[in-house]
Amino acid sequence: MRRWIWLLGGGVAGAALLMGVLSRTPAVQDAVFARGLAARMEPAGTGLLEPDALRVLLCGTASPFPHPTRARPCTAVFAAGRFYVVDTGTGSWNNLALWGIPAERIGGVLLTHFHSDHIGELGEFDLQTWVAGRPEPLSVFGPRGVERVVAGFEEAYALDTDYRIAHHGADFLPAERGRMRARPLDPIPAEGLAPVLEREGLVVTFFRVDHAPVSPAVGYRFDYRGRSVVVSGDTARSAGVAAAARGADVLVHEAQANHMVATIRDVARAAGRERVAHVMEDIPDYHTTPVEAAALANEAQVGLLVLTHLTPPPANGLLVNLFTRGVREARDGDWLLGDDGLLIELPADSKAIETRRLR
Ligand SMILES: [Zn+2]
Ligand SMILES: [Zn+2]
Repeated sequence: MRRWIWLLGGGVAGAALLMGVLSRTPAVQDAVFARGLAARMEPAGTGLLEPDALRVLLCGTASPFPHPTRARPCTAVFAAGRFYVVDTGTGSWNNLALWGIPAERIGGVLLTHFHSDHIGELGEFDLQTWVAGRPEPLSVFGPRGVERVVAGFEEAYALDTDYRIAHHGADFLPAERGRMRARPLDPIPAEGLAPVLEREGLVVTFFRVDHAPVSPAVGYRFDYRGRSVVVSGDTARSAGVAAAARGADVLVHEAQANHMVATIRDVARAAGRERVAHVMEDIPDYHTTPVEAAALANEAQVGLLVLTHLTPPPANGLLVNLFTRGVREARDGDWLLGDDGLLIELPADSKAIETRRLR
């Protein structure tokens, strides 16, 4: 027995030694690198654009609170051969690039409102999809004010845009395709759905939500081939969201665990961190708790509730349980806590809801 253990140990040590030697061998380094690249040349995300389903990909599930692995708010919807991005939170472009999403197939950006966590990477989405070969200016929809946001990002990226054209040539990177086109949603009706765009069977609509003093703020609904998804944006529990989501297959709803926010406030105050405590005191009234989102999903009779914009974003299993306390009891139907990379597939003209993770 002892002899076998020695042999096994010797074998493992030998393999580790060999790997160490190989990883320092230039020819092996070159071959492994090229092989890895070749595997990535066919973008992994191409299949998401097939017109056989409506697909929803969470590209950012955190809030303004920092988190080591979750990007800030971003939800991508794939339909009719393109993808549409609801909010461009910091870190979300990196996620989409890592997952091999065909960047040039972006159909538009839809901003819910202009808090920094929702717009941080708008410039990156514009620049990267242009470099990837986007054939037209990038449409950016949002409430009035979107013109200022777009103009500001264009100005901030103007020098970089010039550098790229100088380096790669105007034939390769036509300047006009690199622009953004602000598309203000105006007027915003007090209630009900209003049109954003229609394209090859995809119908996108928007609705008013309650994120005062941020006003107006909106959410979006996507309908495609008999399937539907609603993205709430930031909002207190809102009858407008419930109405917009009525009967939808999927509701992607923001969630803020106010019982955890209260604890952060108390601990911060006890530690003399009064500014942190002040902010924690202010934020509960313009977000929705996980239990409220569950009740709203019941009321709207949605097929699957997905919680996102997690405040505070839970960092481990214990905190997930704390964050979702009471949801299981409150929700009369399916629900999930969102993660970056969660993909929800809704095959056309069916009732199926399939989930998997992109890594
Ligand atoms: Zn937010
Ligand atoms: Zn907000």
